[in-house]
Amino acid sequence: SINVVEVSGLRKQFKTRQRSWGEKPRVVHAVSDISFELAAGQTLGIVGESGCGKSTLARLLMGLIPADGGTVRIAGVELQQDAAQLKALRRKMQMVFQDSYASLNPRMSIEDAIMFGPLVHGTPRAEARERAHQLLSRVGLDPARFAARYPHEVSGGQRQRVNIARALALSPEVVLFDESVSALDKSVEIQVLNLLRDLKEEFGLSYLFISHDLNVVQYISDVVLVMYLGKIVEIGPAQSLYENPAHPYTRALLASMPSMDPEQRTLSAPITGDPPSPIDPPSGCRFRTRCPYAQAVCGEAEPQLSMPLPANLHGSPHLAACHMLVPQSGHSESPAA
Ligand code: SF4
Ligand code: MG
Repeated sequence: SINVVEVSGLRKQFKTRQRSWGEKPRVVHAVSDISFELAAGQTLGIVGESGCGKSTLARLLMGLIPADGGTVRIAGVELQQDAAQLKALRRKMQMVFQDSYASLNPRMSIEDAIMFGPLVHGTPRAEARERAHQLLSRVGLDPARFAARYPHEVSGGQRQRVNIARALALSPEVVLFDESVSALDKSVEIQVLNLLRDLKEEFGLSYLFISHDLNVVQYISDVVLVMYLGKIVEIGPAQSLYENPAHPYTRALLASMPSMDPEQRTLSAPITGDPPSPIDPPSGCRFRTRCPYAQAVCGEAEPQLSMPLPANLHGSPHLAACHMLVPQSGHSESPAA
């Protein structure tokens, strides 16, 4: 199938602010050598703890901040830091943020907020309004009741529906969700997730779905990417990754995942403590300070993504970056096996 997003070797570092006289600013490697592809019609879930670089990755993919290296291709077009090109790319890729207020002007009615993008892109006003009303209906908000309201006059769940309508107003191919359902009540969250699934089918969309919530990511994703301190530690088809997590970090994340079924028990130990600072991450494997399987080699060399399972099991390859994966030909054992 066709890839709508292709990311290769993407890197971004920040300098910390000076907090005292004489202190040198230090470098935070927020995103280190990230590569992945999103196939048309698929949802790629991106998971990791806060501070793992997920939001920096989102901002890089949207062209909101410049990368230090690597490439991003959206619908075949390489992203440049060029205002005209970025404007054109908004027709290909849109984003929905966690904070439902973030992308809505409080002094703009809901209708005007949804019409804004199309108007900027030259759609005639009457046509933009008609489309806004269609989209409001489609996300479950009656235009007769909601079009003229202001963002503060609706609930958080309704506001996020408005943001979804706003994101779809330019008929994008890809929508990037950054913790977009995280602030919602559980009952509203599942409704919005179901809406997103339906919209994806109806409009032929592809999704990048960033979340710290593994249940949500499992529910919505075809392929899942796990990040730790700015790097991919594991990527694979959702079913394969959830059933056979290969990386100790993924295993620990899944073990600490609140189960829908209280009877269910996992065998691996849940993860404890906070991740180390992304300033001066550990040498070799960045997970080694929390990894129960760490060996000497883990401090010496950085593990590369390699294949822990037969590639054809569930479609796309299932890769993990860990020295303790047994190199194999069609079969492997994972560290805790
Ligand atoms: Fe643990 Fe070593 Fe694998 Fe890193 S490379 S996850 S420290 S066993
Ligand atoms: Mg974040």
